[in-house]
Amino acid sequence: GEVYERYQILNQLGKGSFGEVRKAVDVETGDLRAIKQIVKHRFQTDPKALDLCRREIEITSSLHHENLCRLIEWFEDPQHICLVLEYIDGGDLLDYILKYPNEMGLPEEHAAMLTLQICRGMAYTHSRGVAHRDLKPDNILLMRETPDSPVVIKIADFGLAKMVNAKTMLTSLVGTPQYLAPEVVMQDKRNPGYENVVDSWSIGIIVYSMLTKSMPFAEEGDQPLERIRARFTQPFDVDLLFERGISDRAIDFISRLLEKKPSDRMTMAQALDHPWLAGPASQDS
Ligand code: ADP
Ligand code: MG
Ligand code: MG
Repeated sequence: GEVYERYQILNQLGKGSFGEVRKAVDVETGDLRAIKQIVKHRFQTDPKALDLCRREIEITSSLHHENLCRLIEWFEDPQHICLVLEYIDGGDLLDYILKYPNEMGLPEEHAAMLTLQICRGMAYTHSRGVAHRDLKPDNILLMRETPDSPVVIKIADFGLAKMVNAKTMLTSLVGTPQYLAPEVVMQDKRNPGYENVVDSWSIGIIVYSMLTKSMPFAEEGDQPLERIRARFTQPFDVDLLFERGISDRAIDFISRLLEKKPSDRMTMAQALDHPWLAGPASQDS
């Protein structure tokens, strides 16, 4: 394939809104990398794209935590800005949930072990003053140190992190609205300062889907906006959790993440202290 001075490009790993992510090998060290290529001509047609790209590089390179995907360096070629990321070989959480052999969802202890790592990564991110704002299972990657070691979570794609303008967020994310917090959609100016807990909401949705392989809010109406608005008024489907025998602790954990009012919602620091995570699952890592 294509060759950069230092990286030999291999197969495609994913395709996103701004370009492709491709597997690569560092020819000097032999290390595997993921190179996220952001197409430069986007910058001419979309004036915000350059800012977003700069922010993604700045934020990703400033965050160092074992549960976050690390940015090693970046460079450009005539057509692309290239982000060189550590290569995460275990696929994403979406595939992991869908392919998990148990039809009903992940066993609770396993879900709690993964959630603990997601919350650790996000508690660190929030402590650095950054909100991710695009947490969903396809942006959460998994790897194992060795084939027998436990799964390690690596949160990726800080492409929308700390983007303050909620209106832009709505228009750009309306294609996959399932993980958006109510206040993002309402653009509630009376509730400033709760930006970090939009991530808590998304994690509530993610945990629910891990435990049930289904979504907490009924998808009704043809218009995406209608579907999103339903989330302001409807309670989530807690009956399914009871039917599946999910523990009271897990139900409480999810309920506190899916609080509609941002000021009532559980922060990541509180999540780490919650009995569902602070129980047995936290001991083995
Ligand atoms: P976008 O902002 O376009 O959504 P992402 O950063 O989410 O781009 O990357 C798109 C996809 O590429 C991811 O969902 C994942 O499948 C794959 N990918 C991204 N980063 C890595 C990585 N470091 N290692 C392995 N695969 C990755
Ligand atoms: Mg993504
Ligand atoms: Mg992105």
